[in-house]
Amino acid sequence: MSVRTSHRGRLLLTLTTALTSVVAVASPAAADPGAASVAPLTAAFDTAAVRYDVPRDLLVALGYAESRLDPRAGTASTSGGYGLMHLAANRTLDEAVTLTRLGPGVLRTEPAANVLGAAAVLRSYADQAGLTATARDDVNLWYAPVVRYGGASDPSVARLYADTVYDLLRVGFAATRGEAVAGRPVAPRRGALERAAVLGGVGTLSTDYGPAAWAPASTSNYTVASRPGSHPVDRVVIHLAQGSYAGTVSWFQNPAAQASAHYTVRSSDGAVTQSVREKDIAWHAGNWTYNTQSIGIEHEGYVDNPAWFTDAMYRGSAALTRSLTTRYGIPRDRAHIIGHVEVPGATHTDPGPNWNWTYYLQLVNGITGIGSGTVTTSASTLNVRSGPGASYPVVGSVADGATVSVYCQAVGSTVTGPYGTTSVWDRIGTNRYVSDAYLLTGYDGYIPNVPRC
Ligand SMILES: [Zn+2]
Repeated sequence: MSVRTSHRGRLLLTLTTALTSVVAVASPAAADPGAASVAPLTAAFDTAAVRYDVPRDLLVALGYAESRLDPRAGTASTSGGYGLMHLAANRTLDEAVTLTRLGPGVLRTEPAANVLGAAAVLRSYADQAGLTATARDDVNLWYAPVVRYGGASDPSVARLYADTVYDLLRVGFAATRGEAVAGRPVAPRRGALERAAVLGGVGTLSTDYGPAAWAPASTSNYTVASRPGSHPVDRVVIHLAQGSYAGTVSWFQNPAAQASAHYTVRSSDGAVTQSVREKDIAWHAGNWTYNTQSIGIEHEGYVDNPAWFTDAMYRGSAALTRSLTTRYGIPRDRAHIIGHVEVPGATHTDPGPNWNWTYYLQLVNGITGIGSGTVTTSASTLNVRSGPGASYPVVGSVADGATVSVYCQAVGSTVTGPYGTTSVWDRIGTNRYVSDAYLLTGYDGYIPNVPRC
């Protein structure tokens, strides 16, 4: 019986038998990351979804957001999360132990058990939220359980976590490990979080770096200063977060972290969130002298999985570092733009061998692939929306005649403006878009070298 076709029948088995069976086929796959690793994850998601009546694709999307479906061999993330579903120590992991009666070691290290544990926790949250059996069939009603699973305290960051999962469902994705989810329309019921600010929108913009969102770290996690007056700022330190974008931003808001970075960059699109003001000293380098004299930039992902190292992330990060080096007069070279691993006394290896320093330094030195345009509107201002389309909420405005940077371009709703009719939308900041029909870029539609969002 082939592994690939056997998972349907396995759904009918008891929990214990099913788990044993899935784990049994998962173990040899761990030593062979090729095609054989596809079926065990498929079976694990099928089994968990049926056992706990959680929408299967929601489970897969949550896992993709957390880990790109990489089991990570049971090692903890920076914030203490385990496995492809990122079961969190002292929180969802403990709940999964109680709900599944599986041991914490198995839940941390066996992919099938890890998925089962996450499904059990989500289902318990759904029950506590009053979701009936009928309601559980509607993926849009699982927003609150997903938010609770993420564990963020700040409403904007909680929304960022859950919206990431629902955006994956809307757009669809294919993981390198074989799982694929087709895009579909989604309309998550956000409840009270519908009114929470979208990061990058009104009230959540960085004052230090225009394109970034602002989600302040806990005051327990950095040192207030008045740089560059109090200390010179002469280095940029590059990190890999060992965690997701939302998870990292959320972790810096947790007083228990005792760590922070100034900025975090997202893998999928290069979006940036700032957690600590540049004048203040973030705790990221593990070396007080380096902390006092540097800006720390985290990047979403894990050092050992190349899937996180996207072109969009390099570009978003390089634009930030280019701005920092300009504003502080920092030379754009490898003596001043360094990895965490290069900090004296470093116990961390990030950003690791998958980080392309040559390409990054090229981008920082001006081959940025970022365009610009001049706003032209018959009104005094042009609406800025949170996504590439006229149906997205207005999150700000830019003045007629203003020059804006274009970080990437996306296809959205069709708009007619001073520069004709187009479905191209220009991303001018994190979750900030304007129609290309109102932007004089010098090009008809796509700008050469500017990536698609
Ligand atoms: Zn680091």
